[in-house]
Amino acid sequence: MSDKIKIRDLQVYANHGVYEEENKLGQKFLVSAELYTDFSKAGEDDDLNLSVDYGCVCKKITEFMESNCFKLIETAAQQLAEMLLLNFQLLSGVKIEIKKPWAPIGLPLDTASVELERNWHTAYIALGSNIGDKESYINTAIETLKNTKGCVVEKVSSMIVTKPYGNVKQDDFLNGVLCLKTYYSPDRLLELLNQIETKAGRKRETHWGPRTLDLDIIFYDNFVMDSERLHIPHIDMHNRLFVLEPLAEIAPYVRHPVLNKTVEQLLGELNG
Ligand code: ATP
Ligand code: CA
Ligand code: CA
Repeated sequence: MSDKIKIRDLQVYANHGVYEEENKLGQKFLVSAELYTDFSKAGEDDDLNLSVDYGCVCKKITEFMESNCFKLIETAAQQLAEMLLLNFQLLSGVKIEIKKPWAPIGLPLDTASVELERNWHTAYIALGSNIGDKESYINTAIETLKNTKGCVVEKVSSMIVTKPYGNVKQDDFLNGVLCLKTYYSPDRLLELLNQIETKAGRKRETHWGPRTLDLDIIFYDNFVMDSERLHIPHIDMHNRLFVLEPLAEIAPYVRHPVLNKTVEQLLGELNG
């Protein structure tokens, strides 16, 4: 989808900068935005309620730039993008450019600027617990995600009781999956999940051993990545009934971007 509304060089006088003088005296900033939103319906019905009101966006940008004081325009741009995604329901993403025409570097430049893009993504998270009050650990994790700015829990599967995976002798698991809308990057999302696990008293002892709470990223859009810290899609999800069964309940037609099969197909194959 390539529909977008563009705002170019909105002038704002504000106090962002590394130097104290910049914070005190202020200077001119030029803010440009590309607002990604599907306006095929608005284009048909000629109704502003079906699109994003760019007048209102400009007002919000101005208020935001004037009422905050960041050292870096990188921070201003990122937080501005996130604020717009949170405030305008119909936005699927936004590109922001902030220019500083008066950047105080003592050399004649036209502008110094930063540009970034932030989008809503859809992630599927697997939840598991097999120590203590399993249901409560899982419910607390869901509540924490619901209360995290930039995260919207869209669907939660039923929780199922499953036998432990691997060879470690331990109690049965409670497992489920949820669908999360988020503007977090995969790395930032993993950090958030690790924090929630730690708060639930998760200790990393035996691999595949007992745990109060385990939160894994299964899919993140149709993104594929492999790093030291993160494999997306989860590298073993297609071999796990305790992932595929709850996932098939809320996302049967989501397609694994590497195996090129839907969740329903993967589950069918695993069940033989
Ligand atoms: P498994 O990953 O086989 O389900 P586990 O969940 O028990 O095993 P953990 O000890 O929770 O393993 O995590 C080990 C490491 O896996 C984490 O430190 C994390 O960096 C990494 N990891 C890689 N890919 C993912 C992913 N998609 N979601 C969560 N963690 C991941
Ligand atoms: Ca796991
Ligand atoms: Ca894990």
